Amino acid sequence: MDKIDFRSDTITWPTPAMREAMAVALVGDDVYGEDPTVNQLETLAASMVGQEAGLFVVSGTMGNLTAILTHANRGDEAIVGEDAHTYCYEAGGMAVLGGITPRPLPTDDCGRLDAGQVETAVRPDDPHFPHTRLLLLENSYGAKQGYPLSPDYFATMRAIADRHQLLIHLDGARLFNAAVAQSLPASELTKHVDSVTFCLSKGLSAPVGSVLCGTAEFIARARRTRKLIGGGMRQAGVLAAAGIVALTQMVERLADDHRHAQQLAQGLQQIPGIRVNPAAVRTNMVFFSLSEELGIMADEVATALRQQANIWLDKIGPQSFRAVTHYWVGSDEVARFLEMLGAIIDERPSVDRRQTTEVDNR
Ligand SMILES: *Cc1c(COP(=O)(O)O)cnc(C)c1O
Repeated sequence: MDKIDFRSDTITWPTPAMREAMAVALVGDDVYGEDPTVNQLETLAASMVGQEAGLFVVSGTMGNLTAILTHANRGDEAIVGEDAHTYCYEAGGMAVLGGITPRPLPTDDCGRLDAGQVETAVRPDDPHFPHTRLLLLENSYGAKQGYPLSPDYFATMRAIADRHQLLIHLDGARLFNAAVAQSLPASELTKHVDSVTFCLSKGLSAPVGSVLCGTAEFIARARRTRKLIGGGMRQAGVLAAAGIVALTQMVERLADDHRHAQQLAQGLQQIPGIRVNPAAVRTNMVFFSLSEELGIMADEVATALRQQANIWLDKIGPQSFRAVTHYWVGSDEVARFLEMLGAIIDERPSVDRRQTTEVDNR
């Protein structure tokens, strides 16, 4: 049985077109600035997000860290969502390597910071305080079902940033999902920020890499930061070639992933005992949970799916899951998943039988 993998869009293999482009890519030493394919990718990426220049980096994490270390200094503070990727899932890089204090604030159901709370979090100029320097935003917002945030949110944040001389970095790991979901060019979502990182290696299906974009002056400094943290690559054109295919062939089709996520959410809603909100599914992520009365845990369901059908799914809590759609799972795979999940729930041991088993074991 072929593996069907809903754990993440990071698991996407390169497409056949990418493998061909990689095989014939022109390369050079990118630390000397001499890799023509990397240069082409960086130019293309920058133009797609309306920025002057781009920098090819190993990962989204490296792109964000490079941006943060380039924008801010030791003793500076960065305002960030308390469930943002840069705060929660990047090994504390800004603090560990940059001496930059994160200032986490709550976000709403869509992943938005509250304008008033951001404004009051900016610290006055006083030797007691760190210097508030950066505002870190995210789009789509991973912790809130991959919600695609709209341009007016960024305009609001820009106005606050301008009042207080803050710089804005956007973690746009899934920027193109956010753009496609709103039928907007990505540049509409990046025109209010000072820098943006997006991943080639998620829904866009490239094997490796992200691009950091900003002004030419900022990217020149970021190039030094990237070297500092060990991200200077040599004949990286073999990877950049896949990135160019990602940006030219894989952006518009993200709409398919969003449709499949909607198909999945609506199918889940038909299974008794599954809690899901299809209206909250706007991009390629579906969060859902098992109701108490089913009497089964996420671990048991995940194991059964894997053993019976080679379907892989990540739990995010004792009774909850996140499923992500991508290029390698289509409508048929979604249907198969729904069918198997329905069967596993139907065949689960009844709650009564479980209680008896527990008694027997004592
Ligand atoms: C995946 C992701 C990143 C980091 O990307 P890596 O390439 O895995 O380092 C950053 N931010 C968000 C929101 C992500 O989903």
